[in-house]
Amino acid sequence: MTCFFCAKASKGTCRFCGRGVCEDHAKFGPYVLEVTRSESRGRSEALVVEDALQCGTCRPRPQPVPLPELD
Ligand SMILES: [Zn+2]
Ligand SMILES: [Zn+2]
Repeated sequence: MTCFFCAKASKGTCRFCGRGVCEDHAKFGPYVLEVTRSESRGRSEALVVEDALQCGTCRPRPQPVPLPELD
């Protein structure tokens, strides 16, 4: 796979949108691995990776989107 932004070989793919990114274009940021519901505290909590590979172009939402129909 090649980088989405230039012709270099990609080092990895964005965790969010799947675009290939080379080392020049790779960005790192938090990625939510898992959202869990803590019954004892009565709220949802997220397990987050702080330096996941990102393309820097797509805009993941800072908060998970609620899916009430799955509850
Ligand atoms: Zn690139
Ligand atoms: Zn992306």
